[in-house]
Amino acid sequence: MRELRRVTDIPGPQSRALLARRQQAVSKAIFNETPLFIAKGRGAVVEDVDGNEYVDFVGGVGALNVGHASAEIIDAIREQSDKFVHVSFQIMMYESFVALLERLADLTPGQFPKKGMFANSGAEAIENSVKVARAHTRRPGVITFFGGFHGRTLLAMTLTTKHHPFKAHYGPYAPGTYRMPFAYCYRCPLKLRYPSCEVACADSLQEMLETSLSGDEVAAVVAEPVLGEGGFVVPPSEFWPIIKKTCERYGILFIADEIQTGFGRTGKMFASEHWQLEPDVMVLSKSLAAGVPLSAVVGRAEVLDAPEVGGLGGTFGGSPLGCAVALKVIEQIERDKLLDRSQTIGNRIRARFLEMKERFPLIGDVRGLGAMIAMELVRDPDTKEPATTETDAVLKACYENGLLLLSAGLQGNVIRCLTPLVISDDELGLGLDILERAIAQVSGARATAQVSGVAE
Ligand code: PLP
Repeated sequence: MRELRRVTDIPGPQSRALLARRQQAVSKAIFNETPLFIAKGRGAVVEDVDGNEYVDFVGGVGALNVGHASAEIIDAIREQSDKFVHVSFQIMMYESFVALLERLADLTPGQFPKKGMFANSGAEAIENSVKVARAHTRRPGVITFFGGFHGRTLLAMTLTTKHHPFKAHYGPYAPGTYRMPFAYCYRCPLKLRYPSCEVACADSLQEMLETSLSGDEVAAVVAEPVLGEGGFVVPPSEFWPIIKKTCERYGILFIADEIQTGFGRTGKMFASEHWQLEPDVMVLSKSLAAGVPLSAVVGRAEVLDAPEVGGLGGTFGGSPLGCAVALKVIEQIERDKLLDRSQTIGNRIRARFLEMKERFPLIGDVRGLGAMIAMELVRDPDTKEPATTETDAVLKACYENGLLLLSAGLQGNVIRCLTPLVISDDELGLGLDILERAIAQVSGARATAQVSGVAE
């Protein structure tokens, strides 16, 4: 079994020195999960500037399904940058831009004619998906879900649920947006139980359209098939088909935000496939280009063709480096059978998490799809009080012992795994062992605090 190199305290002196400079130069508003600075990354392991190694269960926040810096991605970047780094597709076109949209049209669900466009970030692609939907339907309204996260620009932030820290003090928000309940069965918004609830939350869309809103004023429903930032919440099998059918009844476009769920994360190329969903428009980013900033909006040709010429685009959207890398990423996912690997990784993490749940009452729920797996921490399995500070303590114990992990959820009490799909069995085992020890440590500290009557 491989051992992780550990040469200094964590954070080590080099990271601490850089952190002091960071405090002076970088806005406080940018959150840092760890006090660490990276020197290099390969596959699913990163090394900090002091030479300490970590197993990476965050994968650049879901952007590195193919791992850090594989040789072929580095080659693709080198080859492309040798030719040209930038020209702007609007000035002089290049084949990789077209070829990538052809590939994405083929890969995304739905046998209808598709077209697409590129942008630079997830938020920017979300903005563009709403632009094309409004231009096509000539309707203003957009419906999203409680718990959703779609980015930090004005409209994307408006569509996002969590007020602190994503929205506080940034209003007024974009008009014409509405929010409906998500199928979060562990904390049912309607206080019902699945399956006897008959997925009543999905009927909220129809109810909204019959009461507070008119269907002919709604352009689109924007949805993450599985909530990412919202806590890796997987709706039951009936949920999306009901929502999609309701959309069709009112001529509302269904936009799937697959920025976090796409490119193999859930065991399929896109999470929509788990529900046999054919979104009218899909929004893609993160693992699309292995860390090179790139996002895409792909969907029905008539929808993508609706805006005026010049209404979509941008200086950098669909950069030559991004397109060259994305074509390699897709090749690598297919050739190395990373969708199967995602399922295997997910099964292994889920089994370990369920074993841990038996032993640690701190773990209230284990859920996910493929390698998109999370555990929700609670102070009491009956009251389900969110264990937010305990989650932070677990994550700190993890990085101090060589594992990078990230929280999620409206209360920040969910631990999510976004491991690169190229992680080896050994590295996965190492990471899970570190996490288990961290949970045991924090559970032990809680038990001791409770016995000695220390208030939390
Ligand atoms: N949508 C989803 C589902 C996301 O997970 C994210 C980022 O985490 C975004 C949108 C925003 O992407 P970006 O941070 O690239 O703007």
